[in-house]
Amino acid sequence: MAKLYFHYSTMNAGKSTVLLQASYNYRERGMDTYVLTAQFDNRAGQGKVASRIGIDSRADTFAPGDDLFAKVQARLSDGSVACIFIDESQFLEKDQVWQLARVVDDLDVPVMCYGLRVDFRGELFPGSAALLALADEMREVRTICHCGKKATMVVRMGPDGQALKEGAQVQIGGNETYVSLCRRHWRDAVGDQ
Ligand SMILES: [Zn+2]
Repeated sequence: MAKLYFHYSTMNAGKSTVLLQASYNYRERGMDTYVLTAQFDNRAGQGKVASRIGIDSRADTFAPGDDLFAKVQARLSDGSVACIFIDESQFLEKDQVWQLARVVDDLDVPVMCYGLRVDFRGELFPGSAALLALADEMREVRTICHCGKKATMVVRMGPDGQALKEGAQVQIGGNETYVSLCRRHWRDAVGDQ
């Protein structure tokens, strides 16, 4: 039975590495996979899943308004896939999460989504909220705060090294702009009492 999986984490926990390893495990056994990531510019289909430890893979992309059930059906008409992998799944729309649920239920293909649980304000991303509601299985990809506790929160650092409290939810950064922290140290960083 295929399932819808949500592997969630905070920034820099290595979720793309986990995705690429899982996809590789299928391909090593001669099974094809279909890898999708969020489209951040206007070049449809020109995606890449990259991990900080240096491995990467080409990927198709999804954008707001895309019908992912139709997209998967089109891919399957070119040949079967053993598993579908979605990186940056926090950027999925609620409707798109339902489309992926239909892929699992009606096409019987497992879908593994990897994404951030909360943004730098401590709010759920829409895609993550839908996945938390609909996924059959959830797994946490863990990383730690500087104090050694599990990091569950993220702060966005401004150029002055101070944590930002407001701003757009969607901004793509790397190690230099986001820091993962435990909740207590996140509250210290954003000045929350
Ligand atoms: Zn801490």
